[in-house]
Amino acid sequence: MTDPSLAPPAIDTSKPHPARVYDWYLGGKDNYPVDEALARQITTMEPSARYGARHNRWFMHRATRMLAARLGVRQFLDIGTGIPTEPNLHRVAQTAAPETSVVYVDNDPIVLAHAAALLRGTPEGVTRYLQADAREPRKILELAGTILDFDRPVAVSLIALLHFIPDEQGAYDIIRTLVDALPSGSYLVLSQLASDYDPERTKQAVDMYAAGGVTLVPRSREEMTKFFAGLELLDPGVVWLPDWHPELAVDEERDGTAVPLYAGVARKP
Ligand code: SAH
Repeated sequence: MTDPSLAPPAIDTSKPHPARVYDWYLGGKDNYPVDEALARQITTMEPSARYGARHNRWFMHRATRMLAARLGVRQFLDIGTGIPTEPNLHRVAQTAAPETSVVYVDNDPIVLAHAAALLRGTPEGVTRYLQADAREPRKILELAGTILDFDRPVAVSLIALLHFIPDEQGAYDIIRTLVDALPSGSYLVLSQLASDYDPERTKQAVDMYAAGGVTLVPRSREEMTKFFAGLELLDPGVVWLPDWHPELAVDEERDGTAVPLYAGVARKP
């Protein structure tokens, strides 16, 4: 019998998957006609969707620069990593400090299929990929604990992921479980789709994703801020994603278009 862990991941091309739709927005090639169809529908309704996706990547770059270069964080746990898109988080972090360890997590088989690109890190550092579901944070902590040292600060990031996890599926509990496992001096990095930027268009987007079988959960600034309960938000707090430390931008092609995503980074006291 074949070891199931060695079987190639099963890619379901009959319905859209968030990682692949996002890959289309970013101009990637790892998406299928179902993903492209949904992405085009969204882009027709909201022409800035592709710009917003690129901005979300830029936020990840800026937050990682802040943590690695300015705040000295040397361990990262990135949940909901997505299909590799250069530069990935480990490239940004290991450029600042080559000895940095990065553990990536995603639950989509397409990310697993492309994980090799996530593993080309520096010889001094560690980069690993784990196939796991964010809704099982204890399992993630257990697996990541064999690679990262949870007695030293860790930056945990869920970037553009929480809007795929409804409250009923434990979005707030997931964050609480992850944060509880971190030592003082660790960080939480989040971005997520806003519900209060353009409620009418956001509802249309939710309906379009729902028609494709994907649950999208936009949240208000207040709901987003609740994820950081008990933590110290770094300045400027929970803000529109382009407004989070724009001075850390490198190679961003901003044109001033609004982006309906919130972003924030907080420190565990
Ligand atoms: N963080 C990346 C990718 C965002 S797209 C970036 O910001 O560029 C959202 C990612 O979350 C996708 O790759 C999707 O597969 C992943 N994802 C969605 N639900 C998940 C879950 N329950 N567990 C783990 N990953 C999940």
